[in-house]
Order: sequence, then structure tokens, then C-alpha cells
Amino acid sequence: MRLREPLLSGSAAMPGASLQRACRLLVAVCALHLGVTLVYYLAGRDLSRLPQLVGVSSPVVDSGPGPASNLTSVPVPHTTALSLPACPEESPLLVGPMLIEFNMPVDLELVAKQNPNVKMGGRYAPRDCVSPHKVAIIIPFRNRQEHLKYWLYYLHPVLQRQQLDYGIYVINQAGDTIFNRAKLLNVGFQEALKDYDYTCFVFSDVDLIPMNDHNAYRCFSQPRHISVAMDKFGFSLPYVQYFGGVSALSKQQFLTINGFPNNYWGWGGEDDDIFNRLVFRGMSISRPNAVVGRCRMIRHSRDKKNEPNPQRFDRIAHTKETMLSDGLNSLTYQVLDVQRYPLYTQITVDIGTPS
Ligand code: UDP
Ligand code: BGC
Ligand code: MN
Repeated sequence: MRLREPLLSGSAAMPGASLQRACRLLVAVCALHLGVTLVYYLAGRDLSRLPQLVGVSSPVVDSGPGPASNLTSVPVPHTTALSLPACPEESPLLVGPMLIEFNMPVDLELVAKQNPNVKMGGRYAPRDCVSPHKVAIIIPFRNRQEHLKYWLYYLHPVLQRQQLDYGIYVINQAGDTIFNRAKLLNVGFQEALKDYDYTCFVFSDVDLIPMNDHNAYRCFSQPRHISVAMDKFGFSLPYVQYFGGVSALSKQQFLTINGFPNNYWGWGGEDDDIFNRLVFRGMSISRPNAVVGRCRMIRHSRDKKNEPNPQRFDRIAHTKETMLSDGLNSLTYQVLDVQRYPLYTQITVDIGTPS
């Protein structure tokens, strides 16, 4: 007892007690540090996910102009407490108007390096949030490699900034018989669905580049016309029913119109037929405004085997009847080759010739 008294009351034996207390404190601090580190680690080192993980709702930094509440209102299933938040309605990464020119060479290996998050076959999904837009981009193609290089160079960064969950499909018509844009687009729809559960399809000419990344390459409640202000038409619509160039249809919208026509061989009319189909199924066209919708087309001459189709006027006049039996329900083709390149998937297909 004599020995313990001074220990408890301090004085000469004090350093021993202090040391003990200091050690306990150190252990507590270490444990706290370890705990916090563990929580950060489990949250994927992303502060914005902490509120979900610990079940506390707090302001989220850097959510941009979109509703920040999106991020905190996502239901977190018990089993996947670590799942990502939904992406905001409008991406905070958009930059607006972009300078588009076609006077420099494009090296695709370099483009792949500049887009390290794009996966083989031209697939991408945001890392920090779940995109509601699962978009297959379908490009009708034959012998336009130079245009495709510019398209990939410009579009991959735009699509990533738009926070889309996307894949690029170049549908390459085999052989050198007459070209058929709309049939290639039907093939693209069908083939892309074999890869992934896409809910939206953007159909883009290979030579069209948007000049503003607010022009969303995704689907809306009505079919979307995207290339509404092309340079070659003086940055405006050539006519109000125009639906050519770049457009987007949800899977449901596409199925509702029996897909696109298969029997427009050569240039022209197929986009007007698609417009008719949409109208005959009670849909209307959604468009960005003419500022956001500005885009450039790489200048080119008419390709061989894609001469204007003289039958197009007659065909457009009969869409109402022909759309019942010409479309997805009559589509036949043969896939000859599928190549997964770093920036896109190329599907080479035999689509036959006019019957
Ligand atoms: N296309 C192609 N090779 C051809 C013909 C057409 O790749 O030989 C594709 C390409 O995507 C092109 C689109 O079909 O952008 C539409 O054709 P074009 O550019 O000739 O039409 P326009 O310039 O009149 O809109
Ligand atoms: C054709 C369309 C074409 C448009 C603009 C129309 O006459 O039928 O296919 O997209 O002109 O060039
Ligand atoms: Mn063109």
C-alpha cells in the first residue's frame, strides 16, 4: 500500500503512470486511424460514396449542375452496400462548344492511349457512378476509314464526358455491291444486343461530328434527332421532317416501328421512311436547339455504289403499308467477321443485294 499511494497521487512515481496512459492513448489513436482508413478504403477512396457506406446523408462535392439529391437518394440494397450512386441527370463534365476541324492526321494508337478508360471493342462505363443510359452507337460503314478515325478521335471524349455506358459498333458492308444504310443499322441493332443489354441506340453517319457536347448521344421519351444543325445545310434543318445523319431511338421505340426499312438500296429516302414510321406509330421528334445541335460533316464526294435511289420517292409514299412487312421482322443477313479493336467493334456483314 505504501508503494501504491505515491503512484496514485503523483510525485516521484508519476512518469510510469503517464507512460501507461500515453500508451493507451496511442493505441486508441492507432485504432481510430485504422478504422477511418478502412472505411475510406472500402469506399473506394471516393469521398462521395462515404454517406452511402456509413448511412449518413451529407452534401456531395462536385456533383455539378445536376440534382445532387440523385446521389443520396439511390436505394442501397443490403447486399450491395458498396454499389455506386446513379450518375447525375446532367453530367458535370461537359464543356460546351468544341472546335472541330479535319486537317490533321489521326493516329488511332495515340487516340487509344488518350482514352485509357475505353475498353476493348470501344466499350466504356463511368467509374464513379451508374449511368442509366446503356447506349449502342451504330455506324453504317464501307470504305471510310479516314472518316472513322476522326469520328473516334472526337466522339470518345464526348461520350465519356456525357457519362454514358456505351459501345461503338461499326457495321461494315461486305463486298462492293450497292450500299444500304438502313439495313446496316438494323443489323447493328440486332448484333449489339448480343453483346449487352443496351436500352438505347444512336445511329450515326461516320462523317458527322457534334460541335457541342451538350448535344446528348442518348435516348429520350420521344425519338431523338441529334444532327439538327449541320454545317452543310447552313446550320439548320433542311426541312422539318428531316431525320437523317445522327438519331437515337430507345429499344422500345425501335421495336415499335419494326426497325428500319431493308429495301432502300443506294442513297436517299431511308431516313424519311424512318420518320414516317415514327409518325405512323404516334411518336413525335425530340430535338436539341439549333445552337447545341450544331455539327460538322467531313466533306466528301458521293461514294461509288451509293448513287441516288430513283425508287425512293415511290417507297416513301408507301411506308404505312410496307413498314408492316419490311423491317426487323424480315431482316436477313450473314455476319462474316467480328473484330474487337481498342476503340470500336467492327462487324462485317453480307446484306445481299436488291431482290
Ligand atoms: N457510307 C459508307 N460508305 C459508303 C456510303 C455510305 O460508310 O460507301 C455511310 C457513312 O456512314 C456515311 C453514311 O453512310 O456517312 C451516309 O452516306 P453519305 O455520307 O454519302 O450521305 P450524305 O453525305 O448525303 O448524308
Ligand atoms: C433524302 C434524304 C436526305 C435528305 C438530305 C432527302 O431528299 O430523301 O435521304 O437525307 O434529302 O440530304
Ligand atoms: Mn456524308
